[in-house]
Amino acid sequence: MEQPIVYFNGSFIPDQEARVPLLTHALHYGTGVFEGIRGYHEADSGEMFLFRPLNHFQRMAGNAKLLHMALPSTPGEMVDATTDLIRRNHFEEDVYVRPILFKSAARVGVTLPEEESFAILAVPFGKYVDGRKGLKCMITSWRRLQDNSIPCRGKICGAYVNSALASHEARRLGFDEAIFLNEAGHVSEGSAENLFLVRHGRLITPDISQGILEGITRDTLIGIARETMGLDVEERPVDRTELYVADEVFLCGTAAEVAPVTNVDDRAVGDGHPGQITLRLQRIYEQLVHHRLPRHRHWLEPCYRMRERHFGVA
Ligand code: PMP
Repeated sequence: MEQPIVYFNGSFIPDQEARVPLLTHALHYGTGVFEGIRGYHEADSGEMFLFRPLNHFQRMAGNAKLLHMALPSTPGEMVDATTDLIRRNHFEEDVYVRPILFKSAARVGVTLPEEESFAILAVPFGKYVDGRKGLKCMITSWRRLQDNSIPCRGKICGAYVNSALASHEARRLGFDEAIFLNEAGHVSEGSAENLFLVRHGRLITPDISQGILEGITRDTLIGIARETMGLDVEERPVDRTELYVADEVFLCGTAAEVAPVTNVDDRAVGDGHPGQITLRLQRIYEQLVHHRLPRHRHWLEPCYRMRERHFGVA
């Protein structure tokens, strides 16, 4: 098998050559920010489309500021590096792209050091959750981090200890996923997904001050709900018990896409089956990311056609 190629500090190199010292600051203190971007492979044309990569790198540029870091170049140039990476790896299946910017000083001491490293890697990636089956979720006993401790708004490496504890607890107790409450007791999000519920035909989601990531899938779905489905969308605090009486609940994210939740804390959501609005949003999202909705094609970045443009390769 060919060695995967990664982008590391400005060069494309074999994965095995990309090494960091054991004393790396981010390994000890979690001082990095990362992203997760999906690439959807289209079997008929052989094309690979990255979904909203520019928005992911724009978010990353903002998150980097939280840790006094900066992306090595503009978000647009980061998108170009990513499409180049996909071409160099000749992927012919769906992929998950993981850019990471981290504090790379190899010395002891917690203060944020100057040295930074930046990498992008991509791995083949199928479904993260089975979107046809409903998820059984629990309210985790762990509370969501607060903006004044480790901000959830940024995809900060160290913050994912909070997610890992919750997700592990849920799976160990026989649930599919965890749902966080924040310190104020309001619903926040899943371990790596934003959350929506439907009541009386309205779509409701915790607002951005509830300790959530400003999700790109969340933003995409709010747009679809308002513009394509004509639904009212409320961004506001949500109580735990509102989940118990909701008609529909679903989680969403780059990896999870649109994942219906049919049970919360051993209480059936609605009639215990994925709801109609959830399924409709799921269908439209699926069409959108697979390049079948002309109106949203600007969100899809082709990786292989660009090579034809640049290098004349058929
Ligand atoms: N919340 C958390 C904590 C996440 O890690 C993710 C995944 N990036 C999301 C929400 C969903 O965000 P997005 O739709 O941008 O992938």
